[in-house]
Amino acid sequence: MRLLLVEDDPDLAQSTKRALESQGWTVDWTARGEPVPHSIRQDPYDLVILDIGLAGIDGFETLRRLRAQGSTTPVLMLTARDAVEDRVRGLEGGADDYLVKPFAVIELVARVRVLTRRAQARSDNALCLGGLRMDLEARRVFVGEQALEVSAREWSVLEFLLGRVGKVVSKEQILQSIAGWDESLSENAIEVYVSRLRAKLEPAGLRIRTVRGFGYLLEVSEAAP
Ligand code: CA
Repeated sequence: MRLLLVEDDPDLAQSTKRALESQGWTVDWTARGEPVPHSIRQDPYDLVILDIGLAGIDGFETLRRLRAQGSTTPVLMLTARDAVEDRVRGLEGGADDYLVKPFAVIELVARVRVLTRRAQARSDNALCLGGLRMDLEARRVFVGEQALEVSAREWSVLEFLLGRVGKVVSKEQILQSIAGWDESLSENAIEVYVSRLRAKLEPAGLRIRTVRGFGYLLEVSEAAP
């Protein structure tokens, strides 16, 4: 999952970013609202966490611009304590939920889970294909009853591929979905993760096919048991 955090308090932003990253999520941070509509068009975000009080345009205006360009990306607004009008205004403006500052990390994580789950409408919170089951809640991968060991990066790549079964995805798309702005990750690294996953997925009857010049295609192998 890839999240965009819009928060102008650097300390709060850093601690929030760390907390979300510890869940295995990719988090990009910006202190200002102006670049958000453009970022949402460029990158596939699952959720925007949007503070109301920002330098420059505020969270309400950022939200308005987002929705005006047709974006349906879920937005969780961060509001000050007791600011009931702000909450109402945010929800009326197209926010999906709000969280009152100061908030507990555990509550933030829970809200993020609910909102992204709702958006992706994934039944029983798992992605399945062939003999493979990816439990998004427990963050575990199973082949039949057998748990499969995957690294955090392999998990991200697998989640991306499983969300696009039967479609050819480019290395660039995978890279964009799993790397944050502050990370330098090369297309070679993607090749490494894909080749490791390939070996691990074989027993589940799944194949990651290389489509020369384009990218990868995840499919059920014909030799599947
Ligand atoms: Ca603020």
